[in-house]
Amino acid sequence: MSNFRNLPKVDELLRDERFVPFQDGLAKIKTPKFVRAELECLRTEMSQGKHANATRADLSEIIIASVCRKLAELQADRLRKVVNATGIVMHTNLGRSVLCERAANKLTEVATGYSNLEYSTITGARRPRLSYVEQLLADITGAEAALVVNNNAAAVFLTLNTICNNRPVVVSRGEMVEIGDSFRIGEIIAASGCSVVEVGATNRTIANDYSKAITQETAAILKIHTSNYRIVGYSGETSTSELSAVTQQADIPLIEDMGSGILIDLAKLGFPYERTPMDAIADGADIVTFSGDKCLGGPQAGLIVGKKTYIDRLRRNQLMRCLRIDKLCLAALEATLEAYINNENTPTSALFGTDPERTHEKATVLHNMLTQAEIGTFEFAVQPHNAQFGGGAMPLENIPSYAVYATSSRFSASKIELALRSFSTPIIATIQDDNVILDVLTVNESDFLHIVLAFLSMVKD
Ligand SMILES: *Cc1c(COP(=O)(O)O)cnc(C)c1O
Repeated sequence: MSNFRNLPKVDELLRDERFVPFQDGLAKIKTPKFVRAELECLRTEMSQGKHANATRADLSEIIIASVCRKLAELQADRLRKVVNATGIVMHTNLGRSVLCERAANKLTEVATGYSNLEYSTITGARRPRLSYVEQLLADITGAEAALVVNNNAAAVFLTLNTICNNRPVVVSRGEMVEIGDSFRIGEIIAASGCSVVEVGATNRTIANDYSKAITQETAAILKIHTSNYRIVGYSGETSTSELSAVTQQADIPLIEDMGSGILIDLAKLGFPYERTPMDAIADGADIVTFSGDKCLGGPQAGLIVGKKTYIDRLRRNQLMRCLRIDKLCLAALEATLEAYINNENTPTSALFGTDPERTHEKATVLHNMLTQAEIGTFEFAVQPHNAQFGGGAMPLENIPSYAVYATSSRFSASKIELALRSFSTPIIATIQDDNVILDVLTVNESDFLHIVLAFLSMVKD
């Protein structure tokens, strides 16, 4: 005889105070569903002879513990702030660029009230939403015209779909790359309705390789920044100016996907010079695309600049309606570009140029806070560390930085790393040779307290 009558009632279970922290958002909806499913599961197990001696309290415990675990897993995926202690500035999984204050303020202003999104206060009639930001972009990059879409992948897709539909586009074999999260150039070309003609060798493509491949049918040449990938040793690519000579001869457009599209001069910050969209336009590219939330330091967006005849054709593509940006993105993008014009740093560009001495001081502050908290079993040390650009940009370049290295006689590095990222404000750290590494370049000093509290939480019991 089974003891089904020992099974607690749903209502009774739902009154347990351990569910109180979950009475919000998705977890609130899921709580009764999970409780019922768990009860059903126990009923099945009991009919198979399990839990024969369990009391009502035992069964309640099993259900509540299991439901709480599932609810906590759900809530972990709520979008929220984390502390980026990885030292990767444009960390794609952590939201890429942090907006500048000007952008955050403009975003709030536009989000919390009405705006002139598609309204001219001069004429009292409708105006296109992108009219101002397009002029900003065109003037900054020296292009005739500009356009903005949802992200750079969409920018490439829209360009190919408009300019090359059903026709072949010529690409260097060395640039048929994957940019992470399965954005593959070959596949995006196919999806946009074009065919690809690969030319040259994996490590080297010369202008003549492109010229030879061009036929009556050819729609364009596409040049792609290999971003997260480098060919070193015996290698060579054809420059935009050389390619421009080829496309002018053939009377077809030259499209350049720059990926990160940095606007500032990296050489001034002590890094190798990185080509800018201004260079691409000056070198004769007809359409140039880049991301809004990589080196530019703005919101997710795909920026397209180039010749007016082509940009106008892109604008008329019906897909434009599907790929258009919303008012929040527009507010943040406009403000980010205006910050650039005024020589104001974005949080992203500020990190590229941070003086390592300053980062050392910052690491020392965190180190002192951690040491003074007298958290037993941990050892902390300040060490030089290589921070990175991230977002697929400058993969071989390091940004000189400092980190606090943490080790413990009681916890393994992976235990510490897990505890840090499970903290109420998750701290995202990295592990190297059994050290947990907290690179301070990407951490605000105002967040140091969260780090200290996260360590304290590991030893509290
Ligand atoms: C990052 C990148 C993309 C994709 O840009 P998103 O803005 O993330 O869509 C496309 N091409 C290149 C070369 C890139 O580096």
